Amino acid sequence: MIQEILPDIYKIEVPLPGSPLKATNSYLIKGRERNLLIDTGWNREESREALFAGLAALDAVLEKTDILLTHVHADHSGLSAAVATEKSTLYCGEIDSELVNATGTPAYWSNISAMFGVYGFPLEEITSAMRAHPGRRYNPGVKQDFTILRGNDVIQVGDYCFTCIETPGHTPGHICLYEPKSKILVSGDHVLDDITPNITFEKRIEDSLGHYLHSLDIIDGLDIGIVLTGHRRLIDNIHKRIGELKQHHQNRINEVLDILGAGLRDAYRIAGQMTWDISAKSWELFPPAQKVFAVGEAVTHLEYLQHIGKVRKNENNGKVSFELIY
Ligand SMILES: [Zn+2]
Repeated sequence: MIQEILPDIYKIEVPLPGSPLKATNSYLIKGRERNLLIDTGWNREESREALFAGLAALDAVLEKTDILLTHVHADHSGLSAAVATEKSTLYCGEIDSELVNATGTPAYWSNISAMFGVYGFPLEEITSAMRAHPGRRYNPGVKQDFTILRGNDVIQVGDYCFTCIETPGHTPGHICLYEPKSKILVSGDHVLDDITPNITFEKRIEDSLGHYLHSLDIIDGLDIGIVLTGHRRLIDNIHKRIGELKQHHQNRINEVLDILGAGLRDAYRIAGQMTWDISAKSWELFPPAQKVFAVGEAVTHLEYLQHIGKVRKNENNGKVSFELIY
């Protein structure tokens, strides 16, 4: 489905079969010399067909189209290699550009399994979750050359002049684009409307949640009229939504403190006690892929509490445990 959002800015909905996200919002911005495509969808047939059909319907010549990835995740980066021509510039934040290439290697996924194991995730469960992980199955599949975007870099497309804003948190090298004249924010997955962006741990960044909350403050300080989100609905009142997201994480922090107070120590079991918006009847019945999200969230909230001095992290025999500092 294609929709003109603003003059020369089109949203192409790229389906993500089987994902609760349903679709990725790709944006094509048409310029006089060159177009810019922001985010692409998974590297699988249904997504590819929809993206290419959308680009064809909009008469986008691929040789004249550059591609920008807001972040590493395969629902945003997956089709970058399929769309890019030799004449296309492929933009991404620094750490995430390295991660896009890393997701094509088996070593990346075994490292992630090992990291989750340290937090108490049973080996068979994490191995099966990683085997089915969309990031492993639907990444671009080839090594690509990126043009690195940094904070305050400017991209001009037609009448729009976008400034790059580094917003680490959802991923370490996540970027947003801001167009001050038209008050547009391209938010990737930094701020979504009816979904709380997943914040997980990453070897390349310490305290993802602390970074995420800081990145929310940066965006909150901007004059924004419309948010072009990475999924689902667009947002017209981002400041209200940022308030809700901050409150959500504060509630989670309080929940984690209560669970630690009751004596649980490892992130896997702590995640099992947290409240999740999922229909499984018990933690044991959670699909392994959902457990990965849950444990990732538990770890980032625990590490945030460690960074503000409320929790101690202990490492013993290759396992990490957490305890309250009274
Ligand atoms: Zn996404």
